[in-house]
Amino acid sequence: MKFHCPACKIPVIEPIYRCPTCDGPVEYLPSQTPTFPREAIATRPSDMWRYSEALPVFAKRISLGEPVTPLVSFEQDGIEAWAKCEYLMPTGSYKDRGAALLASYLGDIGIREAVEDSSGNAGAALAAYAIRADIRLKVFCPATASPGKLAQIRLYGAELVPVEGPRPRATEALLTYAAQHKVPYASHLWHPLFIEGVKTLAFELAEQNNWQAPAAILCPVGAGSILLGLYRGFRDLLAADAISSMPRLVAIQAAHISPLHRAFHEGACTVAPAKDPQPTLAEGIALPKPVRDVELLSALRESGGDVLAVSEEDIKKGITELGRRGFCVEPTSAVIWEGLRQYRQKADLRPGDRVVSVLSGHGLKA
Ligand SMILES: [Zn+2]
Repeated sequence: MKFHCPACKIPVIEPIYRCPTCDGPVEYLPSQTPTFPREAIATRPSDMWRYSEALPVFAKRISLGEPVTPLVSFEQDGIEAWAKCEYLMPTGSYKDRGAALLASYLGDIGIREAVEDSSGNAGAALAAYAIRADIRLKVFCPATASPGKLAQIRLYGAELVPVEGPRPRATEALLTYAAQHKVPYASHLWHPLFIEGVKTLAFELAEQNNWQAPAAILCPVGAGSILLGLYRGFRDLLAADAISSMPRLVAIQAAHISPLHRAFHEGACTVAPAKDPQPTLAEGIALPKPVRDVELLSALRESGGDVLAVSEEDIKKGITELGRRGFCVEPTSAVIWEGLRQYRQKADLRPGDRVVSVLSGHGLKA
């Protein structure tokens, strides 16, 4: 499997996770151009691996049966909207898409021990897939993360290291440990195979929408792995002529920590770390600065998207309103409720335009 630094145009040898020259993120170089043979895909099992011509090939695939998640309609203010139910993945969040690919790869190259830092969901996902790949995993999490997520990490047999303080403290503790003990950093934030896995979310949405892109897709954004997975996935679909247009990609942040919102509306090309971040119920997106900030901003602008920020009251309301429609989601996912309302007021949507909201994580975890 090949990786390179897109900024320095140099090949990068794993298992390092960032470019040794510029410190930027490393990207995956596919060995062949992705294709989407519709008829063949339609005959395959209903899981994320059905798009095999667009996915990396592994000697041993690590899988927990990641299903094609349901796309379910609901109403908001009397208008039909659509929910992509990612909380129904095996460990209860979309992170399984990336964790399955990352664990498959680490297993293939003989990694037997790794470390990861997480606000909870990615740690739980990687813990489940690491144990299936015979990898001993140590997960550094904020001590204040949802107890359900921390219990889940332990349940899957990973070693949990709770770290006091805000989310970046967990990363600092991990980097110190990894440097001292020379353990590979299996980072869902940095490793390009994680985003390769999240691309399957775009592939599924295209197929579920009769091989057309929805008009717009809203998702919670902290590090931006859903948004970048969607962007790269739809770009692959466009390049293969499998769809004819890019959907508008819309990021929803918690107003208490919304550095992307600020950068986007100031017209910036990079994201400055959040000033005075406040605690938020949306723990999964409480990041002061995304790793791939330049690509996130260009994906939002290129797709004609937007960034919206919602209050803590709106998040609480979102949990209840989505619950009343049969969706049990964690606070991080509930940002989409008010985000969708705001977006519909701002955006130039035509009747019949399909707007999809990604429900990223299960409510029982929180
Ligand atoms: Zn570089």
